[in-house]
Amino acid sequence: MSNQERDPRAVVTTVDRDDNFRMLEPRDVPLGGPRAMDVRRTLPQRGKSLIGAWCFVDHYGPDDVAETGGMVLPPHPHTGLQTVSWLFEGEIEHRDSTGAHALVRPGELNLMTAGRGIQHTEVSTNVGRILHGVQLWTALPDAHRHMDPQFEHYAAPVLEFPEGNVNVFIGSLAGGSSPVEVFSPMVGAQVDLHAGATMALPVAASFEHGVLVDAGEVSVNGKAVPRSHLAYFPPGDDSLLFEAQTDARLILIGGEPLDEQIVMWWNFIGRTHDEIVEYRTRWQTEVVSGATNAGHFGVVPGWIGPPLPAPTMPTVRLKPRA
Ligand code: MN
Repeated sequence: MSNQERDPRAVVTTVDRDDNFRMLEPRDVPLGGPRAMDVRRTLPQRGKSLIGAWCFVDHYGPDDVAETGGMVLPPHPHTGLQTVSWLFEGEIEHRDSTGAHALVRPGELNLMTAGRGIQHTEVSTNVGRILHGVQLWTALPDAHRHMDPQFEHYAAPVLEFPEGNVNVFIGSLAGGSSPVEVFSPMVGAQVDLHAGATMALPVAASFEHGVLVDAGEVSVNGKAVPRSHLAYFPPGDDSLLFEAQTDARLILIGGEPLDEQIVMWWNFIGRTHDEIVEYRTRWQTEVVSGATNAGHFGVVPGWIGPPLPAPTMPTVRLKPRA
């Protein structure tokens, strides 16, 4: 996923702990392309930038790709983050500058670690015609954000319970555990609930959590969570109580609060304004202008066509909030 806003909002996090429940409302963001598929973004937003290390939550579909044009993202860069691609329906073809070429399929995680810099492409295929899923990003902690880029694919097994199914794609939950590499304590899972089910899921009390509802009528710890909304739960809970009035599907994310201030702009995460300027300059000079074959962001094998140019940077310096 690429942040396709023409004038992307700069996000500079604070390290303040948030002790209150919040209901984060989605906003529609066009993904670009001729017919402009929309995504519903709940993170980041004003007043809430991070849930654990999770820093970006886009929810999309179900869309008929014949109508929306689907997802067509030419080469674009990332730094300092991991992208978590997770589908409910459809298929996306992924290529990146580590040489990875993989399909994203329902129930199968594609985890791309940008580290110091990567570029990739994402194109929905015609399989199933319907595209429906989420793209999530996590911020790499300072100790790991300059690492070499890497890519992992993981077909997560479905854990079946009387109340519903749990599919753990990051971290550990409900007796399941994902082997993929993450760099701060966190969890990510799909939870499917049967109509009428009440399920108490034990979670780490040191984690803060977010629950994104994809479908169904469901409440979490007594709070009704509308579709495409992201309910935020501060640290302190050692379980989350799900009550489903109908069949429901949700995404649970969580993690230990990232005790670092990050600067996030377009598809880059860094720590300072100058670092973001440097990433953007390297992308524009080495890739967009085609000056080198393998600069900071490498090359995407098997892709023919121009990369996405970076938007213009804001005229004000990206400053950490006091
Ligand atoms: Mn991307």
